[in-house]
Amino acid sequence: MNEFELIERYFSTQGQRRGDVVLGIGDDCALLRMPPGMELAVSMDTLVEGVHFSLGTAPEALGHKALAVNLSDLAAMGAEPAWTMLALTLPREDLPWLEAFSRGFVGLADRFGVQLVGGDTTRGPLSITVQVNGLLPAGTALRRAGAQVGDGVYVTGTLGDAGLALLQLQQQGVRDPAVINRLERPEPRVKVGMALRGLASATIDISDGLLADLRHILRASRCGALLQLERLPLSPSVSALVSQNDDWLLPLASGDDYELCFTASPSSHDEIEHISRELGLPITRIGEVRKELGLACELRGTAYSTGSVTGFMHFK
Ligand code: ADP
Ligand code: MG
Repeated sequence: MNEFELIERYFSTQGQRRGDVVLGIGDDCALLRMPPGMELAVSMDTLVEGVHFSLGTAPEALGHKALAVNLSDLAAMGAEPAWTMLALTLPREDLPWLEAFSRGFVGLADRFGVQLVGGDTTRGPLSITVQVNGLLPAGTALRRAGAQVGDGVYVTGTLGDAGLALLQLQQQGVRDPAVINRLERPEPRVKVGMALRGLASATIDISDGLLADLRHILRASRCGALLQLERLPLSPSVSALVSQNDDWLLPLASGDDYELCFTASPSSHDEIEHISRELGLPITRIGEVRKELGLACELRGTAYSTGSVTGFMHFK
């Protein structure tokens, strides 16, 4: 199969998914119609073998995750996902791999009403780059800057599950499929992000760990925060591990959860609880924005030092 046949067979399977795609895969460019009054939110992320995933990762999960981490960025801006592009570098023609990968990718795209409108296919060490485009009513994007003193700090879902999955994969012991799933098939919090437009004062998605990502909000907003660790939303497995050795590293500093962290005025609290109930997703207030710069933590009223805990960094 040449690359054109590959593309045709595995990546043109969605057909016409959206009315605003004037021209999809197959020409030199895709043509997309922007609705009037909307802004385009664009983002791109790359997954590299050995850095973002290990050799043994199921290709179907990879296809899912490559798109999910990008949709998570759109969620963190409150954008509605619309179009995506995929640049694939493959070491060889591996049809079962491509079939599974595209199933994971297109399955998630279909679920969020996203159309794959183009990309690039090349030979080389396995690398997956996805670009996404989302739509936002002009001026409504949720940025990192905007947190105000007195705002609550919130997170969606539970924290530390992807980090625990990584531990389980590295060790020879138990593997909890539900936990591994959180690492391999993260669920982008698109609906929450969209619902938070006009409510959240600052938003980010947690890809590098709560502390690292919340610090981005605080830096951009020029303020600090105090977190109450006992409020952190934990799954039973992470909770068990934390209480076992009183080590909060997992929920505070492990990455890849792709939950949203945001700040919002106390006057928005009831509406946030309403959104949480409507979407069936926990949204937990874990602390407060304050004037004193920096990120402080306390555990049941006593200061808790997070030392030099940082998130994952590629260049350090
Ligand atoms: P060109 O030579 O003009 O760059 P390509 O041969 O790279 O064109 O791609 C042909 C068509 O297939 C284009 O519409 C391109 O966007 C699309 N395409 C290529 N690779 C992928 C892919 N992995 N996923 C989706 N579309 C792809
Ligand atoms: Mg090309």
